[in-house]
Amino acid sequence: MCIFCKIINKEIPAHILHEDENFIVILDIMQATKGHTLIIPKKHSENIFNLEQTTISNIFPLVQKIAIRLKERLSLEGLNIINNNGKIAGQTVMHYHIHLIPRYVNDNLVITFDKTEQNFAELVKILK
Ligand code: 5GP
Ligand code: ZN
Repeated sequence: MCIFCKIINKEIPAHILHEDENFIVILDIMQATKGHTLIIPKKHSENIFNLEQTTISNIFPLVQKIAIRLKERLSLEGLNIINNNGKIAGQTVMHYHIHLIPRYVNDNLVITFDKTEQNFAELVKILK
């Protein structure tokens, strides 16, 4: 059983901020910044590619609710919402989850996107 399923089953402890029938919201054990939070569906799915439609429908209202709670109760200046899918994308726990990372002045957190050269016309042909 994966580590988040164990947390959901209360086999290992976590700092729980919210729990309902379908989701658990916990503090990340490695706080990237103060208040770094994870939104986790209770039903185990590995990533965005196999997430159930009902989970997809229900998760973003909860993301916003927790985002507003973080904004109101911590003196944050901004918020990164991140979801890593696949090992190459930085996913380390193979149970779908969304990171809410509060941002503060001088928090020294670096999240960067390197630039690459791409053929936009070809990409639109493939992806549209
Ligand atoms: P990922 O790298 O998969 O996007 O994010 C996994 C996150 O889960 C990491 O930020 C990591 O710190 C967090 N994490 C891993 N194990 C535990 C745990 O046992 N408890 C909590 N609260 N967070 C965990
Ligand atoms: Zn799991």
